[in-house]
Amino acid sequence: MKFITDVSIQKKLIRVIMLTSGIALALACVLFAIYNFTMFRIGEVRELTSLAEIVGNNSSAALVFDDSQTAKDVLSSLQMDDRIEAAAVYDKTGKIFASFNSNHSEANVFLSKPNSSVNSFTLQKLDIALPIQLHEETIGTIRIISHQKSLIKLLGENGLIVFLVLIVSSIVAYLVSKKLESMISSPILHLSDKVSQVSNNRDYSIRATKTTQDEMGNLIDRFNEMLDRIQEQEIALQGANDRLEDQVEERTAKLKTAISDAERAKIEAEKANQAKSEFLSRMSHELRTPMNAILGFTQMMLKDTQNPLNEIHQTDANHIIKAGKHLLELINEILDLSRIESGQFSVSNQNRHLGDIMEEVLEIIHPTAKKHKIQLTCDMDQFQNIYVFADSVRLKQVIFNLLSNGIKYNNPDGSVKVIQEITRDKQAVKLKFIDTGPGIPSDKLKDIFEPFNRLEADKTAIEGTGIGLSICEKLMEMMGGNLKVESAVGVGSEFSIEMPIGKPLKNEDKVKLSPQEPEFKNVEISDNCSILALYIEDNIDNLALVQRIVSDIPAIKLISAPRAKLGIELAKAHRPNIVLMDINMPEMDGFQALKQLQLLEETNDIPVIAVSANAMEKDIEKAKQAGFNNYITKPIEIHNFISVISQTLGKQVKITQ
Ligand code: ADP
Repeated sequence: MKFITDVSIQKKLIRVIMLTSGIALALACVLFAIYNFTMFRIGEVRELTSLAEIVGNNSSAALVFDDSQTAKDVLSSLQMDDRIEAAAVYDKTGKIFASFNSNHSEANVFLSKPNSSVNSFTLQKLDIALPIQLHEETIGTIRIISHQKSLIKLLGENGLIVFLVLIVSSIVAYLVSKKLESMISSPILHLSDKVSQVSNNRDYSIRATKTTQDEMGNLIDRFNEMLDRIQEQEIALQGANDRLEDQVEERTAKLKTAISDAERAKIEAEKANQAKSEFLSRMSHELRTPMNAILGFTQMMLKDTQNPLNEIHQTDANHIIKAGKHLLELINEILDLSRIESGQFSVSNQNRHLGDIMEEVLEIIHPTAKKHKIQLTCDMDQFQNIYVFADSVRLKQVIFNLLSNGIKYNNPDGSVKVIQEITRDKQAVKLKFIDTGPGIPSDKLKDIFEPFNRLEADKTAIEGTGIGLSICEKLMEMMGGNLKVESAVGVGSEFSIEMPIGKPLKNEDKVKLSPQEPEFKNVEISDNCSILALYIEDNIDNLALVQRIVSDIPAIKLISAPRAKLGIELAKAHRPNIVLMDINMPEMDGFQALKQLQLLEETNDIPVIAVSANAMEKDIEKAKQAGFNNYITKPIEIHNFISVISQTLGKQVKITQ
């Protein structure tokens, strides 16, 4: 590209100079030739005219005296001039009187008298005719024809001169233009070269050299100024870039530190969470184990018909059970809260009929409302065709908590009303729990979702843990809804939950919602039914409790082992109908023992029930996956204990009352 541009500039320049000078020169030469030609012709005509005048005058006497020989002689004098080809004298009538022909002239050249003074002037010939006068009377005509060889020669010489001048001047013009080219095009080429360098290398420090003070020099000055400004901007930009890079580097370093800090903190938090979760699960286990004995034996004392407790002791035993249950509730709630907070808790949202859920909760809560003399109003018609997308177990837990609070924190003969609404955007269902309790001061409202904050309730006899609402709030959030409260002191409180609206249920969902649990309550078993149960348990109190429970069931015979190994030997030897297995045991735990039983031919068909103080869902799930047929959590609830054994055996077991 550069090459083409360079060449074309040079060529163009030379061509322009050559063309203009050539045209000017050619024009001058042509004008010069025309001038020469014209001047030559004027001279010829003038010369021939004067010659004709002289010859005419000399022939006048011959004409007057009709002496043609004299006239011929006069004419023959013309042979001295080698230009003259022919000449003739005509008489008055136009007839040829005398003529002269040079030896190279054509014949019959003077057949007629010419009409005008100049007959013709061609490149070959000049033909002139003049009247011959005597005393102002025309007595004849003289005509002379000369050839124009000199004119042709002159033209040839002129052409040659023009040609030579053009050639010489073209060479000179070429040489001059070559010289000029370096003067004019060099700065342009230099500038073009610099522009290419700048654009190719992005090097704004390059400058063009000014060599002339003309427009070109001016252009180079402007170009250099432009480069100055670009370079300044470039330097400023570079500086800004450098600063930016420094900032980015600095911030990246900070970010990296922050990320690694956060990662470290996350790992630590995860470890802490893990430790917390392990601690809670351990604490739960450790608390539940003695509670098992406390609540279990208290239940047995209250049940004992052979040695019945007196009234005072019965009241005391009931107090123990109530306090124990409260402690259990506290343990369960703390576990729930800590699992939610550590992200180990999940909900399983499904389409549910709200009326079904409400019905189940109301059935459980009704006796409590009755006991507190609180009127519980809930129009079941309002739930017709109302479906929610929620975890039914957790939603029941929330509704139960709000209803039980409405009942607990109420005035005598107060009421709790449940109202359902669809939100304006038709995306959610709202359930309001309106009570006529003492209300909550507005400045305390935000504190009620804080774990363990019971406001003033801990100064009253109303039982509670202060955790329920914070769990409910989190559960509602996990289900894609929310929990809100409004209250007016002296009027009452309105707790409301919002949850995503659901779709109508398919038939299979309806079945799932109310699973048919086998009912074993109050069913007799035949007297000859004999069940041999093996209980493997390291804790003597727990062992004693189960022995005590089973002693009331004649159909069950219990053998026991304080260690898993001995338990397996007993199972092999006696092949019991059922094995009750503690999980946390020294030497060999319940899972290992179960595996052994499953491997042995003599024992692999014996159903095994886990009896453990590990009450977390994941523990129960893990045990079921390992192959335990059922799971009983400690503290043992006697009725549930019997029910699970019956269910596992597929037989009904009766406790003697
Ligand atoms: P608790 O086990 O104490 O009932 P909650 O978390 O359920 O724990 O409630 C926290 C506190 O909020 C309660 O101790 C009580 O002071 C207050 N509260 C909850 N529900 C109501 C209500 N319906 N009316 C008045 N106060 C209430």
